Amino acid sequence: MRKTISRRGFLKGSTSAIVGAAGLAAGAGAGSQVSHGAAPTALITRHADIPAAKGTRAVVVGGGWGGLTMAKYLKKEAPDWDVVLIESHATFMSCPVSNLWLAGLIDLEFISHSYLTAAKNNNYIYFNATVIDVDRSERVVYTSGGQLTYDYLILAPGIDYDWPAVGMLDPEEIHLLHTHYPAAFKPGSEHLTLKRKIDEFEKGLFVLTVPSGNYRCLPGPYERACMIASVFKRKKLKAKVLLLDFNPKVKIKAEGFQAAFQELYKDYLEYVPSVTVHRVDVLNKTVIGEFDDYQFDDASIYPRVRGALLIETLGLVAESSPQKEARINLFRNHLHDDLRVYVIGDSRPMGYSKSGSTANDEAKYVAKVIVGLDKGKKLEWKGPYTSCYSMVNADPPEAIYFGSQYLPPLIAHTPMDMERTVKAWIERGSAFAWRDQNMNRSPEMGQAMYAWAYGYYKDLFG
Ligand SMILES: Cc1cc2nc3c(=O)[nH]c(=O)nc-3n(C[C@H](O)[C@H](O)[C@H](O)COP(=O)(O)OP(=O)(O)OC[C@H]3O[C@@H](n4cnc5c(N)ncnc54)[C@H](O)[C@@H]3O)c2cc1C
Repeated sequence: MRKTISRRGFLKGSTSAIVGAAGLAAGAGAGSQVSHGAAPTALITRHADIPAAKGTRAVVVGGGWGGLTMAKYLKKEAPDWDVVLIESHATFMSCPVSNLWLAGLIDLEFISHSYLTAAKNNNYIYFNATVIDVDRSERVVYTSGGQLTYDYLILAPGIDYDWPAVGMLDPEEIHLLHTHYPAAFKPGSEHLTLKRKIDEFEKGLFVLTVPSGNYRCLPGPYERACMIASVFKRKKLKAKVLLLDFNPKVKIKAEGFQAAFQELYKDYLEYVPSVTVHRVDVLNKTVIGEFDDYQFDDASIYPRVRGALLIETLGLVAESSPQKEARINLFRNHLHDDLRVYVIGDSRPMGYSKSGSTANDEAKYVAKVIVGLDKGKKLEWKGPYTSCYSMVNADPPEAIYFGSQYLPPLIAHTPMDMERTVKAWIERGSAFAWRDQNMNRSPEMGQAMYAWAYGYYKDLFG
């Protein structure tokens, strides 16, 4: 029988307070409408307001962890190339270590950086615009700020949310969910909203969800649960984080997270595995699960992730990718039919961890691949390295660690192959060449985590 789990039940530390049944609300309909308006002539004719190309031009789309690294290292590999980084945002805000900011361990300045500084220090052009379309036959990129041509195009647009995967089909409901209970797994306003929610929370249940699939930052939701619980603990609130996980157990660094849940946050955090979110009833503040419903006072709902919308807009989705990631050569990241276009970062289809350190290491390798191929040289395949700290305690700051090096990708022909590959990679680790793990939280690891972030910011912006 379907149950509604009340706020009161969880706050008492018991899952047995079942107060009644709640039916699924009527399913939302409505698909998206395609408009066939006039061609955007103003964009087609206008040229981007940037210096003229002085040589081979590489255009990098997306100024996140992958794109920033790519722009810098292309310039290092080929100093005479003209490199343009196109990014929608005017400032960079880091997702990595943002959970520490949510708990008040670092300030916003530590995770905010200037694109202008990165471009000046590394001698490339930063163009603040949004890419709308690409003409691969003419090698033209169309942006909100006009068009520009390229010799090489590297797409690093990150992720978008797969709303239908959590039963959200109606644009009105999606809008409500996104504005009221943002995931904060894309940086910017979502993070600022979540921070304010945590700061203002006084009592009750704060729900977080962990999605299915290869989502961005596997340990991120568990780290966030610890950090929010640490705030409730510090303030001695009558409040609890309720972590609803699609997975049957903590997906990564399980030993370290479970120890933190039990030893540090017994009264402030409750972990519920195997919860498939069918829908979120925003107005009634309820997560509708497959079997049970969970009422909350506040929440941050993390839907399943998919390759960025830009990949789909450009017609580059791999049929074999269940998460709408790009159709690329798994060893060298270029499109199968176009050696001038590459996709890196979280929009890639390989089962690597969707993490900043992975995107950074991958971009350095792909920069070498591009410049090498331009000079007629084919590089040996090199897998990326994932280096990942998670803060589990705030007082004192204590972290755990997991690092891995990948074996060559497995070829997957169907969505099922790919799902199986990703599952094997992540859960059994069969494609990791080695894993280095330290699940004993310690203040030394906490300090190492700050140094990790500082080192990467220096690499991206210095
Ligand atoms: C809370 C949280 C904690 C995390 N912790 C860690 C951690 O500790 N360690 C770690 O290694 N990783 C961590 N990650 C993961 C990491 O942030 C991502 O994996 C990484 O940012 C991926 O890099 P990317 O370049 O693919 O995408 P992003 O960094 O998201 O960059 C994509 C960029 O593309 C831009 N863009 C998209 N479409 C367009 C367009 N059409 N035109 C112009 N620009 C466009 C976006 O604005 C964005 O800036 C964390 C993530 C989160 C959310």
